Amino acid sequence: MRLLLLIIILAGPGSFYAQQTEVVDFKRAGVDVWIGPDEKIVYGSVSFEFEILKPTDSIYIDARNMRIEEIRYAEEKIAFDYDEKRIVLKRNWLPGKTEELLVRYRAWPKKAMYFLGWDNAAPDEVWTQGQGKYTSHWLPSFDDMNEKLEFDIEIHAPKGFMVASNGKLISSTHLPDNQSWKYDMDRPMSSYLVALAIGKYQKQTLLSRSGVPMELYYRITDSNRFEPTYRYSKAIFDFLETEIGVSYPWQNYKQIPVHDFLYAGMENTGATIFSDEFVIDSIAFNDRNYVRVNAHELAHQWFGNLVTETSGTHHWLHEGFASYYALLAERHLFGDDHFYWSLYKS
Ligand SMILES: [Zn+2]
Repeated sequence: MRLLLLIIILAGPGSFYAQQTEVVDFKRAGVDVWIGPDEKIVYGSVSFEFEILKPTDSIYIDARNMRIEEIRYAEEKIAFDYDEKRIVLKRNWLPGKTEELLVRYRAWPKKAMYFLGWDNAAPDEVWTQGQGKYTSHWLPSFDDMNEKLEFDIEIHAPKGFMVASNGKLISSTHLPDNQSWKYDMDRPMSSYLVALAIGKYQKQTLLSRSGVPMELYYRITDSNRFEPTYRYSKAIFDFLETEIGVSYPWQNYKQIPVHDFLYAGMENTGATIFSDEFVIDSIAFNDRNYVRVNAHELAHQWFGNLVTETSGTHHWLHEGFASYYALLAERHLFGDDHFYWSLYKS
């Protein structure tokens, strides 16, 4: 009985808010963020474009443990409620036209964005992990993966670093005290797939058979490990695109190794981040290599990123397709014996 009550209490607010995608459709987020690794701070603004689908008295945006500095609607500052988890905007919202909101904020993310180096011996890097951690720790966005937006992200980072994010890099500008990296997407995605990585990188760009730029990042100090780390990348890409039978859905495909990553890899849209434990030389390649993770995260670009589960209950579909297609890619590269042995072991 007590347990049942607890379930009702816990389920109440969730199911109340879970209906948001039926009353409002957020379409685009124009993000402008300044990243300060010394203070482990993010501040910036997000300009949301959205459409009210049904009359409602409130809409919300997820934003965890931030300082919300102001919200502007129709050129004016408006009042809002904020409980350290979500911003709630109460008014008589009516359907009719594309609306715009601007949120200015500061965040000191304890998760979802990680600052390495700067105050310790690790390489100076900043990277994000949205899935399972909530992008709303550093960017006002939507924890509900059914809400898909086009994210166009401009990042201000310290000079001397390279910055990767979702979409196509349209400009990189030296400013007096930072460097701005402006990325542009052309399709919507769930907020958990928003990513950025900042580090002392170089990159090489290959073209897939279909003409998709594959941008392979590596630390300046790892240039002799580039080939073994990314071995078969183009073959995997060409195989999966043909095997799946649907053109790669994003503008380009970046892969970025980072230090102390939480997992083997994460399939952020068009910008997979993976553990630098897979950055290996040609001898180590025989013992541990990036091939399977490479194929797995790439398969998620279709299974997960383009077609997305409606709730975590269906997560096995993302992982099932990605794991199976990774094995198919390995069969293509290494043959049937390897494939059946891998199936047997998994
Ligand atoms: Zn996966």
